[in-house]
Amino acid sequence: MARRTEPFPRGEPARVVEYHAHVYYNPRTKPVAATVRERIEKRFPVRMGRWHDEPVGPHPISMYQVAFPPDLFATLVPWLMTNRDGLDVLVHPETGDGYTDHLIYGMWLGTRIDLNEKFLLGLRAKAAPAAARPARRRRKAPPSPGTRRRPAARTASRTRP
Ligand code: ZN
Repeated sequence: MARRTEPFPRGEPARVVEYHAHVYYNPRTKPVAATVRERIEKRFPVRMGRWHDEPVGPHPISMYQVAFPPDLFATLVPWLMTNRDGLDVLVHPETGDGYTDHLIYGMWLGTRIDLNEKFLLGLRAKAAPAAARPARRRRKAPPSPGTRRRPAARTASRTRP
């Protein structure tokens, strides 16, 4: 597991310009997810992502994304902790390295879901083709909703070993 053998990629939280909360659901809990979504929209000035009933990017099950600026973290995250109505939620920063953001920096409310690590490795190889990834890993991956507005990869390139 690359995650365990690499040195921990220390970051600079002050440079994080945006966070995501990914709210996971299944066909049975979709109505619950709809209620949570409505309540978030009413309460917080967030950028709400579309419903993704099908797996997308590194997310192996249905979810929608909530993008928010750092100044909402202290109110939105505690709200999600206490109002997620049993849904599992991933909160992660956007530093420019999707792999690190989702798999190492992220925090889970509820139960951790195994994300698609291969997809995230693919993103990393794409962002830095010179990085030491075998060529066979460097296949084309569809764009992920979590990476559309990534800030420049300056933080990631500095912290990459
Ligand atoms: Zn995301």
